[in-house]
Amino acid sequence: MNPDVSPKLETINVIDSHVHPIRGLTSGKTLIKEMDASGISKAVLLALDLDPEVFDTDSKLKDETIDDLFAYSYFMDHFKVIETMKRILEVGKTSNTAVAKLVSQYPDRFIGFGSVNPSKDKKYVNTKLEEIINLKLNGIKLIQTLQFFDPQKNKKLNKIFKFARKFDLPILIHLGQDPGPWEIPTLRCVQNSHPKNWVKLVKKHSKNKIIFAHLGGYGKTDDSSWFNAVIEMMKTNDNIFLDTSAVTYQLEIPAIVDKIRNTCDFQKILFGSDSPVVQGTSMLHSRKIIENSPILTYEEKVKIFNMNALELFKIY
Ligand SMILES: [Zn+2]
Repeated sequence: MNPDVSPKLETINVIDSHVHPIRGLTSGKTLIKEMDASGISKAVLLALDLDPEVFDTDSKLKDETIDDLFAYSYFMDHFKVIETMKRILEVGKTSNTAVAKLVSQYPDRFIGFGSVNPSKDKKYVNTKLEEIINLKLNGIKLIQTLQFFDPQKNKKLNKIFKFARKFDLPILIHLGQDPGPWEIPTLRCVQNSHPKNWVKLVKKHSKNKIIFAHLGGYGKTDDSSWFNAVIEMMKTNDNIFLDTSAVTYQLEIPAIVDKIRNTCDFQKILFGSDSPVVQGTSMLHSRKIIENSPILTYEEKVKIFNMNALELFKIY
């Protein structure tokens, strides 16, 4: 592709693979407005199957969380932190039906991903998986930080992967920390979000399409082991994609760009904004970082912006 005869980057329709239609923070209308102002033609909307009551019903989880908070600091008000976590779970909770409704309102602009909480019992997980299919959603979102599961121990993940494979649904997996209390590194739900926990499952389910969010680790810029672990997995599993959500700025770092270039030639990298949950950023801000990058080639930018997503989400 010769940039002299190819469309200018600022006119290219971008697919945003990671957007949260969080009630109270945004609506379908405001998302479409932001997309239009940012040259985003389609956005993947993510459900989040979260349980704000989990600390009231699961005393083991509550005790473990308080232990983890003590391990971080004796002086913080641990019960207040739990209350904050509850509030964030309440705000973040996004049902499969809410996502499906938005998709039905703007079917040309939105792609819907459902969510299932693997910490719940078998019956619940089965019901949610059926719901995802019945609502014609196109993928499954998992998030260890907010759903409190351990990928190495949770038996229901096999079922979820098999189901996703059967219906050809990509699975989008959160990696790294999360805002607020989930920046506390001693929390086991944060430690469970290291990509190393997924090595076995990814290998076992080599036919599944897997998207790891945040280039391997949101908020983990101080620790390259997270990014390096997903890169290592990509070397032996060609079913792994990475999205840039919340960490697009990492594509300004030559060492990161080089590693991606040498591993997948940018054919597995998807543009994502994480809008509207990362304060101080926006769809446009994330887009401009890539558009203006002096170290990415024109071809690489097009792959990130839409080529890879068009193929993965089968948009023709
Ligand atoms: Zn996100």
